[in-house]
Amino acid sequence: MTFEKKCTIDPQDIIAIELGCRNCGASSFVPMQSVNPSDIAKFSERACAFCKTPNGFASDTTELETLRKFLEMTVAMGKTMNGRNLKLRMGIRFSE
Ligand SMILES: [Zn+2]
Repeated sequence: MTFEKKCTIDPQDIIAIELGCRNCGASSFVPMQSVNPSDIAKFSERACAFCKTPNGFASDTTELETLRKFLEMTVAMGKTMNGRNLKLRMGIRFSE
């Protein structure tokens, strides 16, 4: 017998987006119903409000657009999968 540990997440399980600073650890949670991908993308261009470390995204870059699209899709996936028979789950890394 083999046991396999795995951790997965359903898009509908995502209840908030956490925005945080790797440098100082400051963070905030934005509930999914309040997530505005364009606002978060603009926020990402700024420096951390606490330690002033740049967030690392520059205006009008492909990376910033990728972030905005990822957030849009994350918000949309929870609604898109609601009531469907197809089960879509994403594996996530976890530490024991
Ligand atoms: Zn910071």
